[in-house]
Amino acid sequence: MPNEILKVDHLSVNYGAIKAVRDVSFDIKEGEIVTLIGANGAGKSTILKTISGLLKPSAGDILFMGESLAKLTAPKIVAAGVSQVPEGRRIFADMTVKENLQLGAYLRKDKDGINEDMEKMFKRFPILKERQKQDAATLSGGEQQMLAMARALMAKPKLLLLDEPSMGLAPIYIQEIFDIIESINKEGMTVLLIEQNARQALSIADRGYVLASGEVKMTGTGQELLHDPAVQKAYLGG
Ligand code: ATP
Repeated sequence: MPNEILKVDHLSVNYGAIKAVRDVSFDIKEGEIVTLIGANGAGKSTILKTISGLLKPSAGDILFMGESLAKLTAPKIVAAGVSQVPEGRRIFADMTVKENLQLGAYLRKDKDGINEDMEKMFKRFPILKERQKQDAATLSGGEQQMLAMARALMAKPKLLLLDEPSMGLAPIYIQEIFDIIESINKEGMTVLLIEQNARQALSIADRGYVLASGEVKMTGTGQELLHDPAVQKAYLGG
């Protein structure tokens, strides 16, 4: 049995009077891709931001490798091994591709390891190697998504959080991004994937959770959810 790497335990998150996440529980085991799917406003991004420390739980807890993240600051959570690729990428547009990657490693002290990982990123994303001296602003949307993923991987995480990686991308890039997520996972990375593109997210996920109005409504393997008539009707366009 693989070890549980993340446990979200009866989590509630409020924005003032708005209860955005209500009593949500789920877990991720080492080596899995787990996806949270749901419509706009279901609470997906709020959960991700709470795991990465940008928001604080109103109730419940988040355990990463058995330790509570609820009281840690965002940089401490990165240092513990959780990296987020934020919605909309948030790359540093007027810095070069290489500088963006270096920033991803800013909490690391192992210079040799950082250089080694930079080479690994250039191998995985040849376009970033080609464009390493260019300002990140000059990259296309798909390339910026690759840069955001590579930047998060430069922190050497044990768990990668992806917030809507396919959003706003041209169709040719969407498939490529999902292929990259799958191959990063095959090399051992555990992934929490948040997506509105439910069909593609479920097809690469080991397991998924369906969220609506801040609550978990359904769970199953990626394939079970993909073939569930209620999920098909609500989230897969038929
Ligand atoms: P999306 O795909 O649109 O990002 P989501 O599933 O990620 O949707 P959240 O962004 O987590 O949903 O939003 C959950 C609920 O919290 C929604 O009702 C939303 O309007 C509300 N909400 C989100 N951010 C804030 C905020 N900063 N202040 C107040 N309410 C917010």
